[in-house]
Amino acid sequence: MRKIAVVGLGVAGSYLVSRLSHEYEVVGFERCDRSNCYPPCAWGTSISEMQRLLSPIGLNFEDYVLYKGKEMCVDLGGSRFWIKLKGLCTFDKLSLERDLVDGYDVRFGVHIKNAEQLGDEYDLIIDSTGFPRTLLPKISKDYVIQTLEYKVKYSKMPIDDFYIKPMRAGYIWFFPLGDSYAHVGCGDYFGRQRYFLDSFMREHGGEIVKVVGRPLRITPPLMCQPYYVGKVVGVGESIGTVFSVLGEGIISSLRCAEIFSRNVEDPEAYTAEVLRKFSPYKEVFDVVADKIRGRFSFIRDFPKLLRIFRYMKREEEHCGVEIKMTDIIKIFFSKATSSKR
Ligand SMILES: Cc1cc2nc3c(=O)[nH]c(=O)nc-3n(C[C@H](O)[C@H](O)[C@H](O)COP(=O)(O)OP(=O)(O)OC[C@H]3O[C@@H](n4cnc5c(N)ncnc54)[C@H](O)[C@@H]3O)c2cc1C
Repeated sequence: MRKIAVVGLGVAGSYLVSRLSHEYEVVGFERCDRSNCYPPCAWGTSISEMQRLLSPIGLNFEDYVLYKGKEMCVDLGGSRFWIKLKGLCTFDKLSLERDLVDGYDVRFGVHIKNAEQLGDEYDLIIDSTGFPRTLLPKISKDYVIQTLEYKVKYSKMPIDDFYIKPMRAGYIWFFPLGDSYAHVGCGDYFGRQRYFLDSFMREHGGEIVKVVGRPLRITPPLMCQPYYVGKVVGVGESIGTVFSVLGEGIISSLRCAEIFSRNVEDPEAYTAEVLRKFSPYKEVFDVVADKIRGRFSFIRDFPKLLRIFRYMKREEEHCGVEIKMTDIIKIFFSKATSSKR
């Protein structure tokens, strides 16, 4: 195999351009213009796991960190509690994505609509387009959270650290970016993100300087198969690498890209490792889906919650927060997350 096209230069595609260009002839394509792009994302992640993922590329993740959190306020409407943070930060995602592809053969402002558009030139085409998964078939049952996010400038920050307000089918977030800015956003399965976000804005003020938003796939990798169709292979959110309970897709998509970089020539090994690595995502997704449908029961589903807790506890470095069973119970069973609103 010689020539690879990487379609979509978000976090997964940019990482692959950087990782594979030494061994293969790689060309990257991105529909956004180089100068006019702002990844719709809260830019929150966990420092140590990002350091680990970026070390083979020679980038120091600390150079991209904008704000390091100490504790996260969880607002349940009638009450609040605080979770200790273990490396949760915001970082300059746009600069990282640009630095990953710097010096390589990448073409911005090119919207690839199908694999045929690329002709016969490539031996392999990577679909790292994220939510649209333009080059792969539609998923028969795709579950999507609608999102809206503002970048907001404050004269005085209304909240002094990370903040979330969980709801039955999503949550509101306030992620500080340092320097009097924050990403304030809302994701809601039922599409009421603007209503909730604007009511947060009325309460806390601030000047909106950017508006972004896109659907977020929470369908787990197990339900996003096949990963290969002809010469095309999916990597990242295009094949469902989002940890649905948190809406976390940066580390998950980078881990998927890392798995692919080790198995470029072996589709079966890539498929098997993705299925194995992300198998807990299906169990977490089932609980989230039941919660959204209002079918989650404390007594019946407690063992599932316990398994999610054990997985998240093992993955504390990935989550960036201290994981406690009591906090998970509070979030899952509070009035705010159980009511229909
Ligand atoms: C509002 C919001 C907030 C989020 N906040 C967080 C967070 O704080 N932390 C976290 O871990 N995750 C977060 N996520 C999830 C995370 O952003 C994604 O899961 C992750 O970026 C997926 O990486 P990816 O590279 O697979 O896809 P993407 O990052 O979506 O990149 C896909 C790229 O492909 C390009 N593209 C798409 N179609 C084409 C095409 N046809 N031709 C050429 N280029 C194309 C796009 O322009 C884009 O640059 C958030 C998501 C949303 C929507």
